[in-house]
Amino acid sequence: MDEIFDKKEDFFERNHIGFPKKVIRCKSCLLTNQKMVNSDQYLDNKNTKKETIKFYDGICSACLVNKLKKKIDYKEREKQLKEILSKYRSKNGDYDVLIPGSGGKDSFYASHILKYKYGMNPLTVTWRPHIYTEWGQHNFESWINTGVTNILYSPNPHIHRLLSRLALENLFHPFQTFGLGQQNLPAKIAKKFNIKLIFYGEDSAEYGSDAKNYFSYKGLGASNVKEAIDEIDESKIFLGGITIEELRERFDLKINQLDPYLPILSEELEDSKIIICKLGYFLKWRPQSNYYYASENSDFIPAPERTQGTYTKFNSIDDKLDDLFYWTGFIKSGLGRTTFDASQDIWNNEISRNEGLSLISKYEGEYPDRFEKEVFKYLSMNMESIKGLDYFKQKDLNRNYLFNLADNFRQAHIWNKNSIGEWQISYSDNNENNFEVSDWG
Ligand SMILES: [Zn+2]
Repeated sequence: MDEIFDKKEDFFERNHIGFPKKVIRCKSCLLTNQKMVNSDQYLDNKNTKKETIKFYDGICSACLVNKLKKKIDYKEREKQLKEILSKYRSKNGDYDVLIPGSGGKDSFYASHILKYKYGMNPLTVTWRPHIYTEWGQHNFESWINTGVTNILYSPNPHIHRLLSRLALENLFHPFQTFGLGQQNLPAKIAKKFNIKLIFYGEDSAEYGSDAKNYFSYKGLGASNVKEAIDEIDESKIFLGGITIEELRERFDLKINQLDPYLPILSEELEDSKIIICKLGYFLKWRPQSNYYYASENSDFIPAPERTQGTYTKFNSIDDKLDDLFYWTGFIKSGLGRTTFDASQDIWNNEISRNEGLSLISKYEGEYPDRFEKEVFKYLSMNMESIKGLDYFKQKDLNRNYLFNLADNFRQAHIWNKNSIGEWQISYSDNNENNFEVSDWG
């Protein structure tokens, strides 16, 4: 661990769900101390205290990690990568590495470089987006057309929609199911195919998750999320904010129907000798470069339109539910997609902090209406095969219902109403606060 992290962490007084009561924006990027960091999603419920990004002297941990990243000797790291790969490379064409991904720029880069530069035999696995965008589908096709085998896993849509709606109602997190699948399915697939090596992309410490695993090549890429658990205790594990016990009783579901969402058992992972690694540990990971790489090596296309809520066109564009996911995050934490995209661009020296601030004033928190009709239909509860749907006071989702639900997740230290009764962010930014992280520490 670098000495930077020996610095004393800033202290924040926190509210009952774990958020710092006073909003501070990082002096170097645009994240605030309200950014939630990855947690073990299968424990998440209404009462869970959220973990938030760490700050040191007013600088967020993502900035520190990105600063450290610039000092990493990637030549040395590539050597380590080659050693690991030569240990696992198959000689008879059997799959020797599993790469989870959607076929977006990052998974494209991972599979392509492992196959064509390092001579591996990858199997790729995709947890299907809730609702594919046209360009997401196109990019998925052009990805596998570069010559990779893919398993497209489509979870039972009735169960998937139910769990996603529950996660919206109880956690205001309609994307939870997708994250769970993406994290938990790959190890199970690797086991079935007897593949011993799994490669995720970059470490989420680069986006502000706890940096304690940043100096290890192992992990899901989300450094403080567990890869496996010791047992499935149905009274303690939550999906969509309610326990498995309750899910089974109310909706008459079977445990095996919920298995794709649950982590692999530690014992199984150990016995199968699978190792889970982050490719971003070994190779310098830059989203912009991955985008160019994908465009040069396939028919990869950006979205034809700006993503609502931000200014970008090629970050996470596969799923029509994604816009809603970022909007719900904005309601909960005051941080929308523009902040995340702009902060990433600041870390990679693509834009200045001031440019980022003006992008925020332009796009942050924009309500996404382009796929609204389809998304509401998807999250409306009318599936024939599921029992107990009268759990939902209103089965059909519409904008009025969503906005009322949103109000339950607005926090007093982030939101207030203006003189005409509209919600607005209650804190103001000090725009003078430009600060180069290279001047610091
Ligand atoms: Zn920062």
